[in-house]
Amino acid sequence: MSCRSYFDDGTKLHDYEHNGKFSISKFYKALREPIAQVRWKRLLCNNKASPRSLFITWLAVLGRLATKSRLAQWNMISDTTCVLCNDAEEDIQHLFFNCPFSTDIWMKCLNLLGIGRRPMAFLDEISTAAIKCRKKNNKNQLYGMLFAEAIYNIWIQRNHPVFEGNHKLPDQTMDLILFNVACRIPDSMKVQLCR
Ligand SMILES: [Zn+2]
Repeated sequence: MSCRSYFDDGTKLHDYEHNGKFSISKFYKALREPIAQVRWKRLLCNNKASPRSLFITWLAVLGRLATKSRLAQWNMISDTTCVLCNDAEEDIQHLFFNCPFSTDIWMKCLNLLGIGRRPMAFLDEISTAAIKCRKKNNKNQLYGMLFAEAIYNIWIQRNHPVFEGNHKLPDQTMDLILFNVACRIPDSMKVQLCR
């Protein structure tokens, strides 16, 4: 209803033409409130990882996952110990990049891609992954997929001890990550996942 005036006065619509034709894309962008670009957009939009892993990655990027440190802030729990190592507070930085369980998995992913470094701070990892996903070559495509599948599978393994009593080993979790990625890439790229 708020854009009715554009149609009442048809002459306004000429402003949204492209090559002589009305462009709904141009019109939509003009109607939409200006919104800030987020630096991690490409990490989620250019990524062929499974929708469930992209969803969990999106929640992680927004800081919306119900980690123990967040639950403690809401006074829902008092014990914030990481269930994967029982040795540190479970916040998003520790869970995905500092925990020995996650570090092992993430370094295996990096080694597969020929990258020899240790995990960085959470926001730095997000920025790096987003930059990689802007480039469309196979290696960068795999980087984004492995990143999202690693976040998802670490989160799933974190939930197992909370709800079911135990979790898989890093090697077993890595196999799940590789399987999930291999299911979604062409045969020509699968050789890059061989360890
Ligand atoms: Zn831990």
